[in-house]
Amino acid sequence: MSTDNNIYQPNWQPKDAGSEFACFVTRGVKDTGAPTAAAAQPARRNLSIDDYAEGILSGDRMILSRAITLIESNAPKHFEQAQGLIQKLLPYTGKSMRIGITGVPGAGKSTFIEALGTWLCEHGHRVAVLAVDPSSTVTKGSVLGDKTRMEKLSRDKRAFIRPSPSGGTLGGVTRKSRETLLLVEAAGYDVVLVETVGVGQSETTVRNMVDYFLMVALTGAGDDLQGIKKGIMEIADSILVNKADGDNKLKALSARADFDMMLHYLRPATEGWTSRAYTCSSLTGEGIPEMWDVVEEFFKTVRGNGVFEKRRKEQVLKWVNDMAQEHLENLVNANQAIAAAKLRIEAEVTAGKLPPTQAAKEIIDVMEHELFQAGKQAKAAQSGKSFT
Ligand code: GDP
Repeated sequence: MSTDNNIYQPNWQPKDAGSEFACFVTRGVKDTGAPTAAAAQPARRNLSIDDYAEGILSGDRMILSRAITLIESNAPKHFEQAQGLIQKLLPYTGKSMRIGITGVPGAGKSTFIEALGTWLCEHGHRVAVLAVDPSSTVTKGSVLGDKTRMEKLSRDKRAFIRPSPSGGTLGGVTRKSRETLLLVEAAGYDVVLVETVGVGQSETTVRNMVDYFLMVALTGAGDDLQGIKKGIMEIADSILVNKADGDNKLKALSARADFDMMLHYLRPATEGWTSRAYTCSSLTGEGIPEMWDVVEEFFKTVRGNGVFEKRRKEQVLKWVNDMAQEHLENLVNANQAIAAAKLRIEAEVTAGKLPPTQAAKEIIDVMEHELFQAGKQAKAAQSGKSFT
């Protein structure tokens, strides 16, 4: 935080807040007639790729925050700078334990992350919390990874919390979150918790960017289990029944047994690892160290049998291919000549005047012509933009 007299912390910030609150208020300027207004506004120095890289590697949280903002920017100029930065930092990435956490709203994800994150910091780890929340593109406000929900952890200098990027498609949010993950790894955070909520494809998306995927489940017998999508259980490496405290404890233990039984009949989410259910209380902390033992056991297993490395390779290649495909789809969808040709050809097919295979060939011919011949220029102008 700057010591400039004209700059102060807004009153909603915790007193000892660090650079994770990348926000300050500049005092109003008294009108003395002198041209002081411009002088009162401190110029924000433009950073070069080297400045960003050095700052991140030396653990400067303010620079890390600014670099993430660069990644989240939709401006083509920032896109190029961000890519240059990531390329420079690549040798320092990949070393964290990437952990995905999902669960319905109210399951206790943020309380759990706060409890686990604090415990990990106390045990020598540096923890980054990221969020993937495609719904933030609709509401314009993120409900996940919100610092105000993790007050204690957000004040811990060993932790770094970043809410979900907003705006754009799930593809856009995913790219930004994945690249942010690389940056926090380069900054030395050795545990990265990626929080998500079961909206659309976001759980599968997070599964594809982490090593270990945990589902935080609500307490309760029978009926609650009905509400759990089978698909989520199939991709979870563990299920954690939270709120196992007070009157809820017995119910939680019984839910755990039910989950265990269901998991028993499912194909394991990770080769060589048996997905099981556990209980904890994020409020009292009971069961948190034991849950971490499970996570460490998981990493030991997958590092030992080669699944860790294999999955990381598959994930990065899938990411590249997904982005290439999305970019191509964007180019096709944005091309008016293709759209017009498609309309015409589709009308001929439905009227029975054109055989389907011939129709498909004609559409592809138009696409090829547009994208690879006349469309070259448009493609160049678009580059960068459609990766948002
Ligand atoms: P999220 O929406 O999944 O992030 O859920 P929150 O972490 O915001 O928790 C929802 C509510 O459950 C809050 O009122 C928490 O205080 C409460 N809660 C979370 N964990 C526990 C727990 O372990 N025990 C109890 N009794 N309440 C909890």
